[in-house]
Amino acid sequence: MQVMTNSGEKTDADNIRYLKGIGPKRALALEKLGISSIKDLLFFFPRRYEDRTQFTSIKKIIPGHYATIKGKILAAGLKSRKFARPVIFEAVLGDDEGTVPAVWFNQPYLKSCLQSGIEIIIYGKADLYNKRLQFHAPEYELIEAGEVAAIHTGRITPVYSLTEGIFQRSLRQTIFKILEKRLQLEIREYLPQSFRQEHKLMSLLEAIKEMHFPSAFNLQEEARRRIVFDEFFIFEINLLKKIERMKTKYKAPPFSAPPDFVETFQENLSFVLTGCQKQALNEILRDTSSEVPMNRLLMGDVGSGKTVVAAFTILAAALSGKQAALLVPTEILAVQHHTNLKKLFKNFGLTLKLLTASTSIKERDKTVAFLAQGKIDCLVGTHSLLQEDVRFQSLGLVVIDEQHKFGVHQRSRLLERTPRPHQLVLTATPIPRTLALTVFGDLDISVMKSMPVGRKAVKTYWISRDKQEKVLEHILQKVKKGEQAYFIFPMIEETEKSDLLAAKNEFERLSNGALKTANMGLVHGKLSADVRDGAMKAFREGKTEILIATSVIEVGVDNPNATVMVIENAERFGLSQLHQMRGRIGRGDKESECFLFGEPTTDEGKKRLRILTKTHDGFVIAEEDLKLRGPGDFYGTRQSGQPLFKVADPTFDEEILIQARDAAKKLISENLLTKDGSWAQLKNFLDQLPINY
Ligand code: ADP
Ligand code: MG
Repeated sequence: MQVMTNSGEKTDADNIRYLKGIGPKRALALEKLGISSIKDLLFFFPRRYEDRTQFTSIKKIIPGHYATIKGKILAAGLKSRKFARPVIFEAVLGDDEGTVPAVWFNQPYLKSCLQSGIEIIIYGKADLYNKRLQFHAPEYELIEAGEVAAIHTGRITPVYSLTEGIFQRSLRQTIFKILEKRLQLEIREYLPQSFRQEHKLMSLLEAIKEMHFPSAFNLQEEARRRIVFDEFFIFEINLLKKIERMKTKYKAPPFSAPPDFVETFQENLSFVLTGCQKQALNEILRDTSSEVPMNRLLMGDVGSGKTVVAAFTILAAALSGKQAALLVPTEILAVQHHTNLKKLFKNFGLTLKLLTASTSIKERDKTVAFLAQGKIDCLVGTHSLLQEDVRFQSLGLVVIDEQHKFGVHQRSRLLERTPRPHQLVLTATPIPRTLALTVFGDLDISVMKSMPVGRKAVKTYWISRDKQEKVLEHILQKVKKGEQAYFIFPMIEETEKSDLLAAKNEFERLSNGALKTANMGLVHGKLSADVRDGAMKAFREGKTEILIATSVIEVGVDNPNATVMVIENAERFGLSQLHQMRGRIGRGDKESECFLFGEPTTDEGKKRLRILTKTHDGFVIAEEDLKLRGPGDFYGTRQSGQPLFKVADPTFDEEILIQARDAAKKLISENLLTKDGSWAQLKNFLDQLPINY
């Protein structure tokens, strides 16, 4: 994690350029690896290790296997074929039981250090050449006066990531020397001994040493644990401080809607809220009645009914004389929310407006003016809401739907004003606990685990293309019964370069062929807003029975009468994305079915589709997705693509994460950093970190 390496002012002397054996050229190359100071180098840990501790006698070498050999050079020299390329240097190595040659290409200088009579250790793979065993370019190390430096061989050896101009051997050597000479100078322990004992943490100096040159594998593991703990610990402390700052620095307008509004509004709905919805709503209303800005994430699987919870919150704001903004990622969704909310609020006299990239200039000007005069209670829209001149008179609530579609930066744009609005963030991508503790650590979370009653899991089938005709027939049957269907394609138009099916072409083909008896609509990202809205409206109102679409309908679209979905080239979509799309059906009380057509070529691809056929639980799917993709996708997005942690992997290291988090909580809540002198070093260290980290 960069926080540990970037601490403090850097003086010129710290620059690695001035290290012996580095110089300006290598320094530049190292910069590519993110290394500019000696401290950086100390925190540049190996990518992996090789066990070169076990010596093999020459007789026992197995062709094709790696081995470490200790022996004497019996003969050495350039294999002279004048001017021949490559130049080959050969040394024949012997021990008590046998001999074996090792060759190096184009390193003629080796002849001055690997001379006959010298004792050396080599590590490498011996292969058969002309039926004779031979090492090719093994790593080597001299034994001088019976002793080895044991940097490259005869030990658990670090292997670092490299870049052009940086070589394994010299990097290893440089780091070894720094550890010998400067470790004490560069690194100071900042955790009190008693704390380290309590949490069974190795000292920082020892940990750094053991990370680079482990004296045993279990010690490397312990060292890693210390480094990982530090990364989490410092991260969590900063997070807690940030939350504290938020709470004390900013003030939000407390909502003061009449207490019976919940009941009144409930009576306007055609259903009763689920227990989960009620609880989430209670948490939200408690938060928004206070001056501390709400920062809450409402997490619920697709179809769990987050919109109506948001609607209650918007109403609470409006009844308190505050404006609300509802930010959504797509125009289709903006239109849908706007239409729905207008219906829901019709007995409350609220003014709602829609603002997207397709809003006419005239309409936009009017909306912006009304907004500034406080004549609009709730503005629903896309990124257009984030524009400079869109100003609210008294913004009290920001709701962000489908949070994962927005960057953190975009999300905060609307909040940066005084007083600070309450924030409600909706997500259908359940966030595993480790992520909740890190990436989203500054949000409070409400989880809706159960679905509205009567919901049935969508039956999902992964089927081969030769069954397509049968599926189409089956769908026509359903359409005849008044149900509706989605067909999803990965592309808008066919291209020569790809053999993926495309929405436009398939629309033509199907509406003139197998599905010609059905009324069909088409939506994709290249249509004008009017045409797209028209198509969505027609589908929602049942005027079209089958909707051909691209992934534009992935988020949020709600038509409870749609009960079938066909996804073509399903291998082209990610697991969570497929689950989101599938979430468009199974929204009413009728049995729903999803048919996946796809021929994944990788095992991962096959696994994705298989998971979908087996489970409908968004939480399980999110965990599986995380396992398949690795956490990079989630963690990477927090700060300009930089991973949050250098060594730690929150999924893999969850146990340490929880431990570090609890320790950080205690430290902050008991104010130990300032109260207890033994934490002075850490406090110093933290004070040097950039604020808002
Ligand atoms: P999501 O959480 O995916 O955004 P929506 O808010 O779009 O889900 O809700 C999905 C559907 O469920 C909508 O048609 C909505 O009217 C309906 N719904 C929401 N809450 C309930 C409930 N408590 N009982 C029955 N239906 C509900
Ligand atoms: Mg939604």
